[in-house]
Amino acid sequence: MSDLTYTPAVAAATAPLYAKLKQVIPEIEWPVHAPMIVAINALKREKNAVILAHNYMTPEIFHCVADFVGDSLQLAREAAKTDAKIIVQAGVHFMAETAKILSPEKTVLIPDMRAGCSLAASITGADVRLLREMYPGLPIITYVNTSAEVKAESDICCTSANAVDVVESIAAERGVDTVIMIPDEFLAQNVAKQTPVKIITWKGHCEVHERFTADDIRSYREANPGVVVLAHPECPPEVIAEADFTGSTSGMISYVGSKRPKRVVLVTECSMSDNVAVEAPNVEFVRPCNLCPHMKRITLPKILDSLVTMKEEVVIDPAIADRARRSVEAMMNLKR
Ligand code: SF4
Repeated sequence: MSDLTYTPAVAAATAPLYAKLKQVIPEIEWPVHAPMIVAINALKREKNAVILAHNYMTPEIFHCVADFVGDSLQLAREAAKTDAKIIVQAGVHFMAETAKILSPEKTVLIPDMRAGCSLAASITGADVRLLREMYPGLPIITYVNTSAEVKAESDICCTSANAVDVVESIAAERGVDTVIMIPDEFLAQNVAKQTPVKIITWKGHCEVHERFTADDIRSYREANPGVVVLAHPECPPEVIAEADFTGSTSGMISYVGSKRPKRVVLVTECSMSDNVAVEAPNVEFVRPCNLCPHMKRITLPKILDSLVTMKEEVVIDPAIADRARRSVEAMMNLKR
Protein backbone atom coordinates (compact mmCIF):
# COMPACT_ATOMS: atom_id res chain seq x y z
CA MET A 1 0.00 0.00 0.00
CA SER A 2 1.27 3.47 -0.86
CA ASP A 3 2.39 5.93 1.77
CA LEU A 4 -0.68 8.06 2.42
CA THR A 5 1.07 10.92 4.18
CA TYR A 6 0.14 14.49 3.24
CA THR A 7 3.66 15.61 2.35
CA PRO A 8 4.62 19.00 0.86
CA ALA A 9 5.07 17.19 -2.49
CA VAL A 10 1.50 15.81 -2.32
CA ALA A 11 0.19 19.24 -1.30
CA ALA A 12 1.95 20.86 -4.27
CA ALA A 13 0.84 18.18 -6.74
CA THR A 14 -2.82 18.49 -5.71
CA ALA A 15 -2.97 22.27 -5.14
CA PRO A 16 -4.55 23.04 -8.56
CA LEU A 17 -7.26 20.44 -7.89
CA TYR A 18 -8.03 21.87 -4.49
CA ALA A 19 -8.17 25.41 -5.87
CA LYS A 20 -11.00 24.18 -8.12
CA LEU A 21 -12.84 22.28 -5.37
CA LYS A 22 -12.46 24.54 -2.35
CA GLN A 23 -16.08 25.70 -2.46
CA VAL A 24 -17.34 22.10 -2.08
CA ILE A 25 -14.65 20.34 0.00
CA PRO A 26 -13.71 21.76 3.44
CA GLU A 27 -10.00 22.58 3.79
CA ILE A 28 -9.66 20.28 6.78
CA GLU A 29 -10.60 17.27 4.61
CA TRP A 30 -8.05 17.84 1.85
CA PRO A 31 -5.00 16.34 3.64
CA VAL A 32 -7.03 13.11 3.92
CA HIS A 33 -8.14 13.02 0.27
CA ALA A 34 -4.98 14.31 -1.43
CA PRO A 35 -2.57 11.37 -0.75
CA MET A 36 -5.24 8.90 -1.90
CA ILE A 37 -5.86 10.91 -5.08
CA VAL A 38 -2.13 10.83 -5.89
CA ALA A 39 -1.91 7.09 -5.13
CA ILE A 40 -5.01 6.20 -7.17
CA ASN A 41 -3.88 8.19 -10.20
CA ALA A 42 -0.43 6.55 -10.07
CA LEU A 43 -1.94 3.06 -9.78
CA LYS A 44 -4.26 3.71 -12.74
CA ARG A 45 -1.25 4.51 -14.93
CA GLU A 46 0.72 1.55 -13.63
CA LYS A 47 -2.11 -0.96 -14.21
CA ASN A 48 -3.66 0.54 -17.37
CA ALA A 49 -6.95 1.15 -15.56
CA VAL A 50 -9.66 3.74 -16.00
CA ILE A 51 -12.26 4.97 -13.55
CA LEU A 52 -15.80 5.61 -14.76
CA ALA A 53 -17.61 7.87 -12.31
CA HIS A 54 -21.32 8.57 -12.20
CA ASN A 55 -22.60 12.12 -11.68
CA TYR A 56 -23.66 11.14 -8.12
CA MET A 57 -20.11 10.45 -6.93
CA THR A 58 -18.65 12.84 -4.37
CA PRO A 59 -16.48 15.69 -5.78
CA GLU A 60 -13.11 14.21 -4.72
CA ILE A 61 -13.95 11.15 -6.85
CA PHE A 62 -15.78 12.94 -9.66
CA HIS A 63 -13.21 15.70 -10.19
CA CYS A 64 -9.96 14.14 -8.99
CA VAL A 65 -9.66 10.47 -10.00
CA ALA A 66 -12.31 9.84 -12.67
CA ASP A 67 -11.23 9.42 -16.29
CA PHE A 68 -14.80 9.61 -17.57
CA VAL A 69 -17.84 11.07 -15.85
CA GLY A 70 -21.48 11.16 -16.81
CA ASP A 71 -24.86 9.49 -16.61
CA SER A 72 -25.48 5.78 -17.15
CA LEU A 73 -25.63 6.11 -20.94
CA GLN A 74 -22.44 8.15 -21.21
CA LEU A 75 -20.58 5.73 -18.93
CA ALA A 76 -21.82 2.71 -20.91
CA ARG A 77 -20.49 4.30 -24.10
CA GLU A 78 -17.11 4.97 -22.50
CA ALA A 79 -16.95 1.40 -21.20
CA ALA A 80 -17.43 0.12 -24.75
CA LYS A 81 -14.75 2.45 -26.19
CA THR A 82 -11.88 2.38 -23.73
CA ASP A 83 -8.60 0.59 -24.49
CA ALA A 84 -7.77 0.18 -20.81
CA LYS A 85 -7.45 -3.36 -19.45
CA ILE A 86 -9.19 -2.58 -16.19
CA ILE A 87 -12.36 -0.59 -15.57
CA VAL A 88 -13.15 0.56 -12.04
CA GLN A 89 -16.79 1.54 -11.77
CA ALA A 90 -17.34 4.40 -9.37
CA GLY A 91 -21.07 3.93 -9.31
CA VAL A 92 -23.46 1.13 -8.44
CA HIS A 93 -23.48 -2.55 -9.33
CA PHE A 94 -25.78 -2.42 -12.36
CA MET A 95 -23.42 0.14 -13.93
CA ALA A 96 -20.44 -2.15 -13.38
CA GLU A 97 -22.43 -5.00 -14.93
CA THR A 98 -23.22 -2.82 -17.96
CA ALA A 99 -19.50 -2.08 -18.34
CA LYS A 100 -18.73 -5.81 -18.17
CA ILE A 101 -21.52 -6.62 -20.66
CA LEU A 102 -20.01 -4.18 -23.16
CA SER A 103 -16.38 -5.06 -22.44
CA PRO A 104 -16.39 -8.77 -21.60
CA GLU A 105 -12.65 -9.14 -22.17
CA LYS A 106 -11.81 -6.45 -19.60
CA THR A 107 -11.53 -6.77 -15.85
CA VAL A 108 -14.34 -4.72 -14.30
CA LEU A 109 -14.04 -3.87 -10.63
CA ILE A 110 -16.53 -2.33 -8.24
CA PRO A 111 -15.05 -0.96 -5.01
CA ASP A 112 -18.01 -2.17 -2.91
CA MET A 113 -20.14 -5.10 -4.05
CA ARG A 114 -22.98 -3.90 -1.82
CA ALA A 115 -23.53 -0.74 -3.90
CA GLY A 116 -26.96 -1.74 -5.20
CA CYS A 117 -30.05 0.15 -6.34
CA SER A 118 -33.69 0.01 -5.22
CA LEU A 119 -34.83 -0.05 -8.86
CA ALA A 120 -32.53 -2.93 -9.79
CA ALA A 121 -33.67 -4.82 -6.68
CA SER A 122 -37.36 -4.42 -7.58
CA ILE A 123 -37.43 -6.94 -10.44
CA THR A 124 -35.95 -10.30 -11.46
CA GLY A 125 -35.52 -12.18 -14.73
CA ALA A 126 -38.41 -14.47 -13.70
CA ASP A 127 -40.67 -11.40 -13.30
CA VAL A 128 -39.83 -10.31 -16.84
CA ARG A 129 -40.61 -13.78 -18.23
CA LEU A 130 -43.97 -13.61 -16.46
CA LEU A 131 -44.69 -10.20 -18.02
CA ARG A 132 -43.92 -11.65 -21.45
CA GLU A 133 -46.42 -14.43 -20.85
CA MET A 134 -49.05 -11.94 -19.68
CA TYR A 135 -48.56 -9.57 -22.63
CA PRO A 136 -47.47 -11.65 -25.62
CA GLY A 137 -46.16 -9.63 -28.56
CA LEU A 138 -45.47 -6.43 -26.62
CA PRO A 139 -41.86 -5.23 -26.61
CA ILE A 140 -40.18 -4.95 -23.22
CA ILE A 141 -38.08 -1.84 -22.64
CA THR A 142 -35.83 -2.07 -19.63
CA TYR A 143 -34.30 0.88 -17.82
CA VAL A 144 -30.53 0.39 -17.47
CA ASN A 145 -30.96 0.45 -13.68
CA THR A 146 -31.47 -3.32 -13.66
CA SER A 147 -29.43 -6.52 -13.35
CA ALA A 148 -27.81 -8.26 -16.34
CA GLU A 149 -30.35 -11.05 -15.89
CA VAL A 150 -33.26 -8.62 -16.36
CA LYS A 151 -31.60 -6.96 -19.35
CA ALA A 152 -31.12 -10.43 -20.88
CA GLU A 153 -34.90 -11.01 -20.82
CA SER A 154 -35.65 -7.65 -22.49
CA ASP A 155 -35.88 -6.37 -26.06
CA ILE A 156 -34.08 -3.08 -25.58
CA CYS A 157 -32.70 -0.92 -22.77
CA CYS A 158 -33.24 2.78 -22.15
CA THR A 159 -31.86 5.47 -19.89
CA SER A 160 -33.65 8.50 -18.50
CA ALA A 161 -31.94 10.53 -21.25
CA ASN A 162 -33.34 8.52 -24.19
CA ALA A 163 -36.48 6.81 -22.82
CA VAL A 164 -39.00 8.70 -25.02
CA ASP A 165 -36.96 7.97 -28.18
CA VAL A 166 -36.64 4.29 -27.28
CA VAL A 167 -40.38 3.93 -26.59
CA GLU A 168 -41.37 5.59 -29.86
CA SER A 169 -38.83 3.84 -32.04
CA ILE A 170 -39.54 0.33 -30.80
CA ALA A 171 -43.31 0.86 -30.99
CA ALA A 172 -42.92 2.03 -34.61
CA GLU A 173 -40.51 -0.81 -35.46
CA ARG A 174 -42.85 -3.47 -34.05
CA GLY A 175 -46.04 -1.81 -35.27
CA VAL A 176 -47.65 -1.70 -31.78
CA ASP A 177 -49.39 1.07 -29.84
CA THR A 178 -48.42 -0.27 -26.40
CA VAL A 179 -45.08 -1.19 -24.84
CA ILE A 180 -43.93 -2.54 -21.50
CA MET A 181 -41.42 -0.33 -19.70
CA ILE A 182 -39.80 -1.62 -16.51
CA PRO A 183 -39.04 -1.25 -13.65
CA ASP A 184 -39.41 2.48 -12.83
CA GLU A 185 -43.09 3.34 -12.47
CA PHE A 186 -42.50 7.10 -12.23
CA LEU A 187 -40.13 7.26 -15.21
CA ALA A 188 -42.70 5.31 -17.24
CA GLN A 189 -45.53 7.64 -16.15
CA ASN A 190 -43.43 10.70 -16.98
CA VAL A 191 -42.49 9.29 -20.39
CA ALA A 192 -46.15 8.40 -21.08
CA LYS A 193 -47.01 12.11 -20.84
CA GLN A 194 -44.66 12.84 -23.76
CA THR A 195 -45.79 10.20 -26.26
CA PRO A 196 -49.00 8.74 -27.70
CA VAL A 197 -47.60 5.23 -27.12
CA LYS A 198 -49.35 3.47 -24.20
CA ILE A 199 -47.04 2.15 -21.49
CA ILE A 200 -47.53 -0.78 -19.12
CA THR A 201 -45.14 -0.49 -16.21
CA TRP A 202 -43.82 -2.05 -12.99
CA LYS A 203 -43.94 -0.80 -9.41
CA GLY A 204 -40.23 -0.11 -8.93
CA HIS A 205 -39.07 3.23 -7.52
CA CYS A 206 -35.79 5.00 -6.94
CA GLU A 207 -35.55 5.41 -3.16
CA VAL A 208 -33.85 8.80 -3.60
CA HIS A 209 -36.22 10.45 -6.08
CA GLU A 210 -39.47 9.00 -4.71
CA ARG A 211 -38.92 11.01 -1.50
CA PHE A 212 -39.37 14.39 -3.22
CA THR A 213 -42.91 15.81 -3.09
CA ALA A 214 -44.78 18.61 -4.85
CA ASP A 215 -44.88 20.43 -1.49
CA ASP A 216 -41.07 20.28 -1.37
CA ILE A 217 -40.86 22.04 -4.73
CA ARG A 218 -43.34 24.73 -3.65
CA SER A 219 -41.38 25.32 -0.46
CA TYR A 220 -38.07 25.66 -2.40
CA ARG A 221 -39.75 28.33 -4.53
CA GLU A 222 -41.19 30.14 -1.51
CA ALA A 223 -37.87 30.18 0.35
CA ASN A 224 -35.77 31.01 -2.74
CA PRO A 225 -37.59 33.48 -5.00
CA GLY A 226 -36.72 33.09 -8.68
CA VAL A 227 -35.20 29.63 -8.28
CA VAL A 228 -35.27 27.46 -11.42
CA VAL A 229 -36.32 23.90 -10.60
CA LEU A 230 -34.73 21.02 -12.56
CA ALA A 231 -36.11 17.58 -11.73
CA HIS A 232 -35.03 14.05 -12.60
CA PRO A 233 -37.69 11.91 -14.35
CA GLU A 234 -37.40 9.23 -11.62
CA CYS A 235 -39.34 11.71 -9.41
CA PRO A 236 -43.12 11.24 -8.96
CA PRO A 237 -45.24 12.90 -11.70
CA GLU A 238 -46.60 15.49 -9.20
CA VAL A 239 -43.02 16.69 -8.67
CA ILE A 240 -42.34 16.83 -12.41
CA ALA A 241 -45.52 18.88 -12.84
CA GLU A 242 -44.08 21.52 -10.49
CA ALA A 243 -40.64 21.66 -12.15
CA ASP A 244 -39.39 24.09 -14.82
CA PHE A 245 -37.36 21.43 -16.62
CA THR A 246 -37.16 17.64 -16.49
CA GLY A 247 -34.08 15.76 -17.59
CA SER A 248 -31.48 13.12 -16.87
CA THR A 249 -28.41 14.10 -14.90
CA SER A 250 -26.62 14.95 -18.16
CA GLY A 251 -29.68 16.96 -19.26
CA MET A 252 -29.52 18.99 -16.04
CA ILE A 253 -25.80 19.63 -16.49
CA SER A 254 -26.38 20.88 -20.04
CA TYR A 255 -29.25 23.09 -18.86
CA VAL A 256 -27.09 24.78 -16.20
CA GLY A 257 -24.16 25.08 -18.64
CA SER A 258 -26.17 26.66 -21.44
CA LYS A 259 -28.83 28.72 -19.60
CA ARG A 260 -26.73 29.75 -16.58
CA PRO A 261 -29.73 30.42 -14.29
CA LYS A 262 -28.93 32.80 -11.41
CA ARG A 263 -30.35 30.38 -8.86
CA VAL A 264 -31.18 26.72 -9.38
CA VAL A 265 -32.26 23.62 -7.50
CA LEU A 266 -31.42 20.15 -8.86
CA VAL A 267 -34.13 17.78 -7.64
CA THR A 268 -31.93 14.70 -7.54
CA GLU A 269 -29.12 13.11 -5.51
CA CYS A 270 -27.08 15.54 -3.37
CA SER A 271 -23.64 15.18 -4.92
CA MET A 272 -24.86 16.37 -8.33
CA SER A 273 -25.12 19.97 -7.12
CA ASP A 274 -21.57 19.92 -5.72
CA ASN A 275 -20.17 18.51 -8.96
CA VAL A 276 -22.03 20.94 -11.21
CA ALA A 277 -21.35 23.93 -8.91
CA VAL A 278 -17.60 23.47 -9.43
CA GLU A 279 -18.06 24.17 -13.15
CA ALA A 280 -20.65 26.95 -12.66
CA PRO A 281 -19.26 29.29 -9.99
CA ASN A 282 -21.70 32.12 -10.76
CA VAL A 283 -24.82 30.00 -10.31
CA GLU A 284 -26.34 29.80 -6.83
CA PHE A 285 -27.35 26.23 -5.97
CA VAL A 286 -30.18 25.60 -3.50
CA ARG A 287 -29.26 22.23 -2.02
CA PRO A 288 -31.94 20.00 -0.56
CA CYS A 289 -30.19 16.75 0.23
CA ASN A 290 -31.45 13.26 -0.59
CA LEU A 291 -28.46 10.91 -0.52
CA CYS A 292 -28.26 7.61 -2.38
CA PRO A 293 -26.88 5.21 0.25
CA HIS A 294 -25.69 2.86 -2.50
CA MET A 295 -23.71 5.46 -4.43
CA LYS A 296 -22.23 6.67 -1.15
CA ARG A 297 -20.68 3.25 -0.49
CA ILE A 298 -18.08 4.17 -3.13
CA THR A 299 -15.29 6.17 -1.50
CA LEU A 300 -11.68 7.08 -2.29
CA PRO A 301 -10.24 4.51 0.21
CA LYS A 302 -12.36 1.76 -1.38
CA ILE A 303 -11.32 2.78 -4.91
CA LEU A 304 -7.67 2.67 -3.84
CA ASP A 305 -8.15 -0.70 -2.17
CA SER A 306 -9.90 -2.01 -5.27
CA LEU A 307 -6.95 -1.07 -7.50
CA VAL A 308 -4.43 -2.55 -5.06
CA THR A 309 -6.25 -5.86 -4.45
CA MET A 310 -8.11 -6.10 -7.80
CA LYS A 311 -11.38 -6.65 -5.95
CA GLU A 312 -14.34 -6.89 -6.27
CA GLU A 313 -14.39 -8.30 -9.78
CA VAL A 314 -17.76 -8.24 -11.56
CA VAL A 315 -18.46 -11.59 -13.23
CA ILE A 316 -21.49 -12.38 -15.40
CA ASP A 317 -22.48 -15.74 -16.88
CA PRO A 318 -21.40 -15.35 -20.55
CA ALA A 319 -24.74 -16.66 -21.87
CA ILE A 320 -26.61 -14.02 -19.84
CA ALA A 321 -24.09 -11.34 -20.81
CA ASP A 322 -24.55 -12.14 -24.53
CA ARG A 323 -28.33 -11.73 -24.30
CA ALA A 324 -28.07 -8.62 -22.13
CA ARG A 325 -25.60 -7.11 -24.64
CA ARG A 326 -28.18 -7.37 -27.39
CA SER A 327 -30.59 -5.22 -25.32
CA VAL A 328 -27.94 -2.65 -24.43
CA GLU A 329 -26.59 -2.48 -28.00
CA ALA A 330 -30.12 -2.16 -29.41
CA MET A 331 -30.37 1.05 -27.36
CA MET A 332 -26.90 2.28 -28.27
CA ASN A 333 -27.49 1.69 -31.99
CA LEU A 334 -30.70 3.70 -31.93
CA LYS A 335 -30.53 6.32 -34.69
CA ARG A 336 -32.79 8.92 -33.02
S1 SF4 B 1 -30.09 7.15 -7.00
FE1 SF4 B 1 -31.87 5.80 -7.15
S2 SF4 B 1 -31.72 4.90 -9.18
FE2 SF4 B 1 -29.68 5.76 -8.69
S3 SF4 B 1 -28.56 4.05 -7.74
FE3 SF4 B 1 -29.50 5.21 -6.06
S4 SF4 B 1 -31.43 4.10 -5.71
FE4 SF4 B 1 -30.71 3.48 -7.73
